[in-house]
Amino acid sequence: MIQQGIGTRCVQAGYTPSNGEPRQIPIIQSTTFKYDTSEDMGKLFDLEAPGYFYTRLQNPTNDHVAAKIAALEGGTAAMLTSSGQAANFFALFNICECGSHIVASASIYGGTFNLIAVTMAKMGIEVTFVSPTASDEELDAAFKDNTRAVFGETIANPALTVLDIEKFANAAHRHGVPLIVDNTFPTPVNCRPIEWGADIVTHSTTKYMDGHGAGVGGAIVDSGKFDWMAHADKFPGLTQPDESYHGIVYAEKFGIEGAFITKCTSQLMRDFGCIQSPQNAFILNLGLESLHVRMPRHVENGLAVAKFLQGHDKVVKVNYPGLESDPYYELSKKYMPNGGCGVVSFEIDGGRAAAESFMKKLKLAAIETHVADARTCCLNPATSTHRQMSDEQLKEAGIPAGLVRMSCGLEDKEDLIADIAQALC
Ligand SMILES: *Cc1c(COP(=O)(O)O)cnc(C)c1O
Repeated sequence: MIQQGIGTRCVQAGYTPSNGEPRQIPIIQSTTFKYDTSEDMGKLFDLEAPGYFYTRLQNPTNDHVAAKIAALEGGTAAMLTSSGQAANFFALFNICECGSHIVASASIYGGTFNLIAVTMAKMGIEVTFVSPTASDEELDAAFKDNTRAVFGETIANPALTVLDIEKFANAAHRHGVPLIVDNTFPTPVNCRPIEWGADIVTHSTTKYMDGHGAGVGGAIVDSGKFDWMAHADKFPGLTQPDESYHGIVYAEKFGIEGAFITKCTSQLMRDFGCIQSPQNAFILNLGLESLHVRMPRHVENGLAVAKFLQGHDKVVKVNYPGLESDPYYELSKKYMPNGGCGVVSFEIDGGRAAAESFMKKLKLAAIETHVADARTCCLNPATSTHRQMSDEQLKEAGIPAGLVRMSCGLEDKEDLIADIAQALC
């Protein structure tokens, strides 16, 4: 079949009801599944037959929604997780173990930075952070014999830097490891990293995919392109027998298209259990059905707000990759010709106090620790997510005390701009 458009996939991919079945994906609110014989169930435990036996491992509602996300990203398999944090941890830990090393862009979400730099370090997994604008030489220098993955974000939260996906993918492949890209901010409507060489794509579905601030969730998509067997010594978990499943070899039994997600489900979901509830998966799917309609509006509002702020005398600096003056404009145009997302950050003249006073005066934009939903919201990192840092430390981290991160929602842009204008007075 000819590849359907992204909008058709948002609405219909992943679930095709048969005659007389529910039109909407049913919520299978059941922890377990019934079998006639123990033999039938035994086959599932041995991964000999597909099917369901316990929702911690797999649930039909989740599988339909994961299949839709795989179709959107152009991957071969996907799984849902309880959060974006779980998705990034699983994606990395599925191929890393004690003694492994990761090359990661330094410009990533704070939670992921902490996961890799602090928590995974305690598991004996090292990291080398590189600039998202690192040259080929700088990238090559970051690799070690024990490097097992490269990680970055298409548009970083909150720095709004744009990853040169092709460059990072080429570097990863030169060293025989996959590139994992967190594609939360642009979503597959605005960028599909697999088309640029990424091997694994992750999401915090909590953000635009859900889009209504209703459910925390995550997803992992496999491109089905990385040849684990060609680098068998690096990825023994995929290329050597798994004794907990009678010695199956994932890369042989499930092939290049299915090995990564099958292993991630049957080992990591089994052992860590970060499953998304079927109820949340249902809500996530409602968000996905309109993702292609919502994203252009988020981009339109983000760009309009960024342009307005850029011309304002109380604003020192605006970060938005869709602005021609932004250092990431060219990369943004290449990877996201229809725009990236609705998140804008800007520095208000007068530091912390000015940012606080501005945010207090806003009537439409609420102060929230969130981004990427239908309602515009904002946050001052200096007084919230980064409040433990002094003004000096903030400056060093490239987060001025007067920085405001604003996530433009789906309201009318004229109203958002009017609200910002009155609050800047
Ligand atoms: C929010 C976010 C995460 C973490 O996702 P949760 O769903 O909050 O666990 C990871 N990556 C990016 C880019 C995010 O914006």
